[in-house]
Amino acid sequence: MKLLLLSLYLVVIAIRFALDWVNIKHRKKVRQPLPDAFVGQIDEEQLKHSDAYALAGDRVGFVEDIVGVLLTLLFLFGGLLPWYDHLIAGFSTHFILQGLLFFGLLALVQLVVGIPFSLYKNFILEEHFGFNRMSFKLWCADLLKSLLVGSVLFLLLAGGALWLVQWAPQSWWLWVWGFWIAVSLFLLYLSPYLIEPLFFKFTPLAKAELETEVRDLLEKAGAHAGKVLQVDASRRSGHSNAYFTGIGKVKRVVLFDTLMEQLNNKELLAVLAHELGHWRRGHLRQQLIKSQLLALFSCWLAFILLQGELLAGWFGLEHLSFAGQVLVLGWLGSLVGFFWTPLSSWWSRRHERQADQFAINMVGSGQELASGLVKLARENLSNLFPHPLYAAVYYSHPPLVERVLWLEQGQVEVDIATEVVADQ
Ligand SMILES: [Zn+2]
Repeated sequence: MKLLLLSLYLVVIAIRFALDWVNIKHRKKVRQPLPDAFVGQIDEEQLKHSDAYALAGDRVGFVEDIVGVLLTLLFLFGGLLPWYDHLIAGFSTHFILQGLLFFGLLALVQLVVGIPFSLYKNFILEEHFGFNRMSFKLWCADLLKSLLVGSVLFLLLAGGALWLVQWAPQSWWLWVWGFWIAVSLFLLYLSPYLIEPLFFKFTPLAKAELETEVRDLLEKAGAHAGKVLQVDASRRSGHSNAYFTGIGKVKRVVLFDTLMEQLNNKELLAVLAHELGHWRRGHLRQQLIKSQLLALFSCWLAFILLQGELLAGWFGLEHLSFAGQVLVLGWLGSLVGFFWTPLSSWWSRRHERQADQFAINMVGSGQELASGLVKLARENLSNLFPHPLYAAVYYSHPPLVERVLWLEQGQVEVDIATEVVADQ
């Protein structure tokens, strides 16, 4: 069984590297003519610059992947797991404490291994291409704050789950699931007030006239947002984005200040209309339900598989602690999850298309969204020529050239427009 698992892992790794490889080759070779919206925005010089950026990202990503693969092989198949399991058992025999130590120390190791990569990406790679706006001091502050927030959440979620496992040995999977839902819903409400302000500063829109237009658009889409804010993303990076979040009455629109620098008001409103489309078409709710159902299934499956020492046997070990088995199970889950990626990406691209259609309905055409997206691609040095197979597996959004072509030809759907108005 151990050999079978190892082979499966190596197959997944081989597929991932092969996809990366064809994607890099494709980018260098293929130069399809760009649609009208790109003319005057992206020229040959710009494309070369994007290529260089993508290649630099590929290189560091490759090194990071190799390190990850080697560590995984060493830990799971190289005998490090039983050694670590014994080590932790030597510290404490208390079930909850043992579990927290087991995962806490591993998470710490993962954090430390990730530090050089994060430093390199922020201060060498992103710096070189002019994206980094973060000082070293801010980077350190971010690291400390996320360590703090992460530790609190970890102690709460893992500690609570381990306690439930002990408390209800025959039905813990249901309790753990319920507990996690309760905490995640709670966080969804509280995060804008408790966690996000630790990292970002939210202020009212600097352009007052834009706020009126945003509120008009919200009303037209049938949303009642409490707050329209801008966030100081520019303190960290030149990359840009917009989002619309919240459940129940606590809805808010957040625009990155970088987005406001890069797009004109019409384009901004089209991007926002797209975000509203996700909400109006129920994508956020669907996403939430999908992830909760998946969590329920995972909890139940974990409960079944953790009975007896089945997993320890699979890895050729005589004994493995509860935490050790959960770790192995999580790793197996991520392995199986890889084969799920294309389906989940396809699903997400479908949602993006629907949100684009919603934006067309709202603003009357796809031109503004198209020109906004082209500007963002220019500013973010996006790869315009992904390999179709790579895009099919990984892309959560339709590849830009295809998306812009579609937007340029997009028509307002009369039925949906009237449905939205009638719904208000
Ligand atoms: Zn979207």
